[in-house]
Amino acid sequence: MTASAFPSRQELEDWDRQHVWHPFTPMQEYAQERPLIIERAEGAMLYDLDGNAYIDGVSSMWCNVHGHCVPELDQAIHDQLGKVAHSTLLGIGNVPSIRLARKLAEIAPEGLTRVFFSDSGATAVEVALKMAFQFWQQTTPAKPQKTRFAALQGAYHGDTLGDVSVGDIGRFHNRFKPLLFETFRVPSPNCYRCPMGLQPTSCLLECVQELERLIEREAEQLAAVVIEPGVQGAAGMIPLPANYLRRLRDATHRHDVLLIADEVAVGFGRTGTMFACQHESVVPDFLCVAKGLSGGYLPMAATLTHDRIFQAFLGDALSGTTFFHGHTFTGNPLGAAVSLASIDRLLEGGVLAGLAERVQLLQRWAERLRDLPIVGNVRQLGLLMGVELVQNRETKTPFPAERRLGHHICRKLREQGVLIRPLRDVLVVMPPLGIDVSLLDRLCEFVYHAISTTPME
Ligand code: PMP
Repeated sequence: MTASAFPSRQELEDWDRQHVWHPFTPMQEYAQERPLIIERAEGAMLYDLDGNAYIDGVSSMWCNVHGHCVPELDQAIHDQLGKVAHSTLLGIGNVPSIRLARKLAEIAPEGLTRVFFSDSGATAVEVALKMAFQFWQQTTPAKPQKTRFAALQGAYHGDTLGDVSVGDIGRFHNRFKPLLFETFRVPSPNCYRCPMGLQPTSCLLECVQELERLIEREAEQLAAVVIEPGVQGAAGMIPLPANYLRRLRDATHRHDVLLIADEVAVGFGRTGTMFACQHESVVPDFLCVAKGLSGGYLPMAATLTHDRIFQAFLGDALSGTTFFHGHTFTGNPLGAAVSLASIDRLLEGGVLAGLAERVQLLQRWAERLRDLPIVGNVRQLGLLMGVELVQNRETKTPFPAERRLGHHICRKLREQGVLIRPLRDVLVVMPPLGIDVSLLDRLCEFVYHAISTTPME
């Protein structure tokens, strides 16, 4: 169907305004603007109803690993469609989800061989929280008093109530406080704005020491610590300092506390390794993945864990030890088929191996961006970058929130054919891993130009 055929572009715009409630979107403002409606895509480019092209600078919400309309991925879905589009995992199996579970067990950190499928990042983490909670009641010897969780300031783990309870982004989460369980909170390892007032050059990772102390003090009641390895994404792309994750893992081991690694945003190559945990050879008790699992094609997620957890859920059908959690589309065969094709492309297709060249290019742009007068900090890890804009570099004073600078720069970029989303005044660049080097260069040049031409006042 072309844009001029029924429904017309005008009708689509009207129906969008009348019916579609967009997530994380102030809808009053949305209704006043002309909506951007994507009609098709190819590679790292998206095209709207008028045929205008946009560079997909944030991988369509941090998930599109290889780009769009990738022949092998399209083919994998097409082939599976000819067999079965959906069949349940409740008590029966399907071929692609079995193959995918096997593949995930092979590529994940050692020992994470048990795979529980779901359909979003939020559910992948929610499953881990519920499993950790139930595990302590059923393991031998049982420790039913271990019911609490610890998480970082600025954490984001999804939008279900369990995830929001461990999350800590005031703007998103405070509203729901009366519905949430209490979580132990430790400082974010934000080296640019150290919550402990320390300098990265001289600090002794006091933030991890505080986490270690908490784990030791509260081990009796602590079920698990949940963390985003690599970077705290929604907090503003805050990288964990070297050794942070390793020390956290060691502390949780010492005190028999579980570790939940939320790799929803960083899994599948984003930080340069298949999983961010692998930078420090950390094996968590739960590895939560989604977004990039299916190459960003279909809603697909998984929570991986090891046998000690799994064994605690065995017992006869009436024992009450079963994990009573599941979703209609858990282990969807189309999602599993495209996930297999995506992982193949990352490994055998050489996408992971070819990442270094793109990462080096991004590093060079990060260096250049650091010189701009309104850039306070550039945080780059693998093929992701957060550029924090500040009014005063010396004092790190942010721009007034009312100025909505991040939002306005992204709007300007959109008019120029670049789609990125800000996290307040942190501009996020996170293109598909397989983006052409020349297109990545152009993307960064646009971002650089948009920032360098933004007036201070
Ligand atoms: N965890 C992290 C670290 C995330 O970045 C996100 C989404 N941005 C989620 C969980 C939730 O994933 P989803 O949007 O698929 O529910």
